[in-house]
Amino acid sequence: MAAAGVRMLRAGAFKPRTSPYDFQGLGLDGLKILRQARAQYGLAVVTEAMDESGAEQVAEYADVIQIGARNMQNFALLRHVAGLGKPVLLKRGPSATIKEWLLAAEDLLAGGLHDVMLCERGVRSFDTATRNLLDLSAVPLIRQMSHLPILVDPSHGTGRRELVLPMSRAAQASGAHGLLVETHPRPEKALSDGAQSLYPDQLRQLAAQTRALAAVLA
Ligand code: PEP
Ligand code: MN
Repeated sequence: MAAAGVRMLRAGAFKPRTSPYDFQGLGLDGLKILRQARAQYGLAVVTEAMDESGAEQVAEYADVIQIGARNMQNFALLRHVAGLGKPVLLKRGPSATIKEWLLAAEDLLAGGLHDVMLCERGVRSFDTATRNLLDLSAVPLIRQMSHLPILVDPSHGTGRRELVLPMSRAAQASGAHGLLVETHPRPEKALSDGAQSLYPDQLRQLAAQTRALAAVLA
């Protein structure tokens, strides 16, 4: 990832899984692995905190605390995390309106935290062809309504590896400040979200295309 030009490593140590029987993440051991990757490859670490005590731990190890989609309106967690002073990546709730999302971000700002990034990751729709419905209209809208940077996550937004590259290009063209993309050396073996994880050569392709497109859009 670092060789491909990626700047931040986003991975989950504490994972909010839909089923309690699925892999739940490595917890503290996972945070230690992330810290090692950070030291070895110079990548900033972004990782999710699911509750207040976990957030304290995450703040010790990570550069950015992620608040996942399911916790977007967990106001107790937002207030707590605002007090930790680390930048926060706030993902859009699966059925949150733009207004609810921005007001959740406002909770962080009101708590004194000003380094907040937003991330569009798709909303729930009637269609099961994709995992979520990636709302790219949110990007120019957020840019009009807020000064906060807006990222797009086409991995959770579509759930399908073959859609990640085209939707990354679309996200960039819509004005996104960055992308959150899942990748795995062997997606078939991934313990979480393999179907939406890029192969390493696809990640390199995405990085090259992103750079080329940035030059055109500049
Ligand atoms: C994630 O980014 O690891 C994740 C679980 O995504 P979301 O919260 O958007 O479902
Ligand atoms: Mn995932």
